Order: sequence, then C-alpha cells, then structure tokens
Amino acid sequence: MSLDSILAERYSRQTRVPGIGKAGQEKISNSRVVICGCGALGTVLANHLARAGVGFLRIVDRDFVEVSNLQRQVLFDESDVLSNMPKSVAAANKLRAVNSHITIEPIVADIDRTNILDLCRDVDLILDGTDNFEVRYLINDAAVSLGKPWVFGGAVGTEGQTMTIIPGETPCLRCVFEASPGPGEVGTCETAGVLGPAVAVVASLQAAEALKILAGKKEAINRELFTLDLWLNTPRRIKIARLLEKRNCPCCKQRKFEWLEGEHGTQTTSLCGRNAA
Ligand SMILES: [Zn+2]
Repeated sequence: MSLDSILAERYSRQTRVPGIGKAGQEKISNSRVVICGCGALGTVLANHLARAGVGFLRIVDRDFVEVSNLQRQVLFDESDVLSNMPKSVAAANKLRAVNSHITIEPIVADIDRTNILDLCRDVDLILDGTDNFEVRYLINDAAVSLGKPWVFGGAVGTEGQTMTIIPGETPCLRCVFEASPGPGEVGTCETAGVLGPAVAVVASLQAAEALKILAGKKEAINRELFTLDLWLNTPRRIKIARLLEKRNCPCCKQRKFEWLEGEHGTQTTSLCGRNAA
C-alpha cells in the first residue's frame, strides 16, 4: 500500500464530511497549529487535531501531570503522574503513537510576552487551551498583531464558553470582554471545581472551529459567543458581530497591544490546578 492510500484510508471518514472533502483534508494535513496550554481543554484539542491529521502541532505547557488532572485531562494516565512527566511531553508521546504521519513539537514553557510571538509566528491557527484570562489577552494581542485566527475557550464548574476570532473580520476578545477579570472575580477550577464533560464539550467545539478554518471553510465558523451550562441544560448564543463596528477596541482598532507590551498582565490570577514547573 502506498503512503497516499494509507493516508486516504486513515482520513476516509473525515474526507466524506461534505465541508471537508479531499481538498480540505489536504489543507488540514499541510497546516500548522499551536495549542497554548495542555490541560483539560488542551488535551482534548490536541487529541482531535492529531487524529484529524493536522500536519504540525506545537503543544505548550509549563506544568507536570498530577493526579487531580486525570479526572478530565484525557491524554494522561497514572504512569505520567508517577514519572512526573511534563504535560506537553506526555501528550506528544501519546499522540505520536496515535498518528506517526504528523509532527508534534512539545514545549515545556510558561507562555508570556517574551515568547508568545515566537510560538505563534509560524502557525496558521492559535488555540486557547489555557485556564486564565491573563494569557488569553496575551494570545489575543499576539493573534491580532500577527493577523492570525484563534479560538477562545474556557470552562469552570459546569459552564463553558467559546468564540472564534478572525482578526479584522470578527470581534476580538477585547471587543467582547473589555477588561480582564481581576483575581478572585471569576471562579477557578480550584474554587468552583470543573465538570469533565463541560471542558470536553467546549474543546470539541473549538476543535470543530479549527477544522473549518484549516480546511479553508471560514464561512462556516461560529460568529457568536457560545455559552452553555451542562448542569442547567442552558446553551446560549450571544450575538457579538456588531461589536466590531461599534467598539473603538484598543486592541484590534487602535492596535495597542497592552499585554504584549507589558502594560498589563503582571499579576497572576489563580489557575486551575497549579503544579508549576
Ligand atoms: Zn477588538
């Protein structure tokens, strides 16, 4: 069997999806993605994208696998806890066994303003697998300044939310949430807990958005802020498109990148399970 026919068989169920097809799969296979954070969201994102055949996946996380992660961080197991594996390396090891036809680059690092541009410059898409707003505003600055799409996602307790940002075409994170919530203003996984399925749903929605963008089907993306509570069974779609015209956004209109330039983001909000490097 030739490599082409092996790959055709591997992705056969995905290329049959009308919006993807062989042309879309080819684009997905030639694309490069960075996943910022490899916890609950990041492991589900990396799992979907590696199986979908994204050609290059960079997985960035500074933390090591701990036992409280296993409830929801789907790429890790007890042996990773015992051997104190860095999350990005453990994820890369699992996914290389799943798909040897793609390149996975694990990076053990704290994402900050000194490295974010280098992490994002050579990719087609940035995915938010983080657990705090400081890094999300930094990702937003980097994505807008580089003109690259990114997909925001977050989950805490039984609730999750996601939105897709195409700079210049859809509102950015700061168009929608003008300021970062202060420490303690929002619940964290440590204070409110988190339902595994809530994170998995949000990350799966993000991954679907990623595949649309990578397959060249930007017209199919979700242009609303989508939130849902899995316990209360309440999905909500919040129309945000008009904010792009209405707001004189400091980031995407005035191009003031305050997180990237270090005017914001020195404070560290509490995260979902700190087991820092
Ligand atoms: Zn904006």
